[in-house]
Amino acid sequence: MNAITATDVRLQESALNPADAVIDQFHPAGEPILFPLDKGQVLRIVDLEGNQAADVLFYNRDDPAEHYSATDTMLHQGGIYLTTGSVIRSNDARPMLTIVADTCGRHDTLGGACAAESNTVRYALQKKFMHSCRDNYLIALQHADIGLGKRDLVPNINFFMNVPVTEGGDLKFADGVSGPGKYVEMRAEMNLWVLISNCPQLNNPCNAYNPTPTRLLVWNPT
Ligand SMILES: [Zn+2]
Repeated sequence: MNAITATDVRLQESALNPADAVIDQFHPAGEPILFPLDKGQVLRIVDLEGNQAADVLFYNRDDPAEHYSATDTMLHQGGIYLTTGSVIRSNDARPMLTIVADTCGRHDTLGGACAAESNTVRYALQKKFMHSCRDNYLIALQHADIGLGKRDLVPNINFFMNVPVTEGGDLKFADGVSGPGKYVEMRAEMNLWVLISNCPQLNNPCNAYNPTPTRLLVWNPT
């Protein structure tokens, strides 16, 4: 097992050339997207302007009851943050993806996705109706009609988001450690559905109170 401690930051540049990517597209600020990723393909998410949170869930395309599991991922690597070398695991503890490059160095597994409920609890009652990642997920799943819905929304990964755990054991939404052009890259270990909400949150510093676009690239296996 490749143990990853709470403070590990493993910076790793990618050798892949964007000119060779089979998908290269912008993901607009605040919007959801759902797309297939085949076993062996490599996905890169680029934080174009810095401090944008990409809230991501993964499902096994051959058995969508198998999904990303924060607890299995943390348990197996022995650490709470994701970085180069982290294996993203399912609720059956199987590898779903491996992070193969990372120029940001730290990604969150604990903060979850923003929702009407968390907007109300964290900020103010009148924030309830602001657009959220949970709304984004539901909209994308409803449009795709692939048999996934509300019951399949589980705790997600927040790429580029900085949620340090304080000495008292609390979670803190802190200023991002990401910056313009930083990216994370991962290889699919099974056929996947990738569900991303490019976080529309306006009330905390996870995306600098200003949602910005990301860039998504996919390469075929070499
Ligand atoms: Zn969000």
